[in-house]
Amino acid sequence: MAFESLSEKLQNVFKNLRSKGRLTEADVKTALKEVKMALLEADVNFKVVKQFINSVTERAIGQDVMTSLTPGQMVIKIVNEEMISLMGSETTQIDLKPANEITVILMAGLQGAGKTTTTAKIAGKLKQKGRKPLLVACDIYRPAAIEQLEINGKKQDVPVFSMGDKNNPVNIAKAAIEHAKTNGFNVVILDTAGRLHVDEDMMQELENIKAAVDVHQTLLVVDAMTGQDAVNVAKTFNERIGIDGVILTKMDGDTRGGAALSIKAVTGKPILYVGMGEKLSDLEQFYPDRMASRILGMGDVLTLIEKAEAQIDEEKAKELNRKLKKAEFGYDDFLDSMSQIKKMGNIGDLLGMIPGVNSAALKNVSLDDSEAQMKRTEAIILSMTPQERANPDLMNPSRKKRIAAGAGVDISEVNKLVKMFDQMKKMMKQFSGQMSGKAAKRGRF
Ligand code: GDP
Repeated sequence: MAFESLSEKLQNVFKNLRSKGRLTEADVKTALKEVKMALLEADVNFKVVKQFINSVTERAIGQDVMTSLTPGQMVIKIVNEEMISLMGSETTQIDLKPANEITVILMAGLQGAGKTTTTAKIAGKLKQKGRKPLLVACDIYRPAAIEQLEINGKKQDVPVFSMGDKNNPVNIAKAAIEHAKTNGFNVVILDTAGRLHVDEDMMQELENIKAAVDVHQTLLVVDAMTGQDAVNVAKTFNERIGIDGVILTKMDGDTRGGAALSIKAVTGKPILYVGMGEKLSDLEQFYPDRMASRILGMGDVLTLIEKAEAQIDEEKAKELNRKLKKAEFGYDDFLDSMSQIKKMGNIGDLLGMIPGVNSAALKNVSLDDSEAQMKRTEAIILSMTPQERANPDLMNPSRKKRIAAGAGVDISEVNKLVKMFDQMKKMMKQFSGQMSGKAAKRGRF
């Protein structure tokens, strides 16, 4: 999980601070020295760290903090506020022209950063907002880039404009905009060519496109796993071609977090989105305050709720509620609820959003294990016949044996699942019985 080590170190520093009733100036200085080390080890740009620590120190050594009842808490609050401000405070959206005009977005980035994937992810987001996006294949050099965009476009149900690899990107961009005009598209997203390293040809090509067509937004895709390299790439692109915002990919990986904390401060340009996985739905709006909260181990309940709202099918939830009340709950319903939870994303990331579940605690939970457990449960249920799933009372030893063989698990696992399921059902029966009893007493029925 991103920021794991940084988060753990900062939480330790804060634990020490909180445990002290009164703080001396020396206590605060020692704590901030540790914060500084933690940030440097997380690969945050050293100038950014210096500036950050100066701002926090200036505020934390002030009279208000030292004489307050909870000085430790005050210091943490200041670190939180300064961290939010470091990442840009405000959440920045992609700037779109009114829907009756064409917004041209140019996507730039080095090869492998995740540009083509992100381009399709963004097209999906814009579609959700009611826009009509057109993807444009301007990367004529990388083998299979056009095909990759076409596959992703199809998944998002967004058309892809391409002219093969024999035309130059400027002409392709111009033709795509004409195509958009005559076919009712209002956002044109140009997927341009990347290179392994920043090089003159690539920059020149991007300049040529920007000179030839009216690009409204230039978005740079950088890979969070590359740390300070990502920050340097962003700085170079911004100085050379001018960018409006950054999308930081692979934040689901084991990144130390330096790029997320340095990009805005070094380039002056905000992070708009973060890539949280390879799936086309794995793109999250970047909220500096929520990110700071996650880094400091204070959780991110808002994102968790939004994920739940986006994924949970209301009709299904109502139906489930009805079945629960009548204790008609079968294995198919169980599978359904499991898949709704899974759609919300990686379990480790979800747990990390709950306040109080800090990264140190997460270490004791093997996330791979819980994901694997979910997969095994799924396999067991899928090996049941539809009758068995709908009517769990049918279960008997010979059925269990067949199911275990079908799912490729030991029979004890099937027994465990059946036992847990039966207990759950019993509890629900009791619960709904009590509820209707109480309601009846109150004269509801
Ligand atoms: P491009 O060369 O910049 O166009 O990069 P691609 O879009 O082809 O992506 C390179 C690799 O990174 C692919 O395997 C993607 O699936 C993967 N990728 C892209 N974004 C993310 C992300 O947010 N998280 C993870 N884990 N992988 C990503």
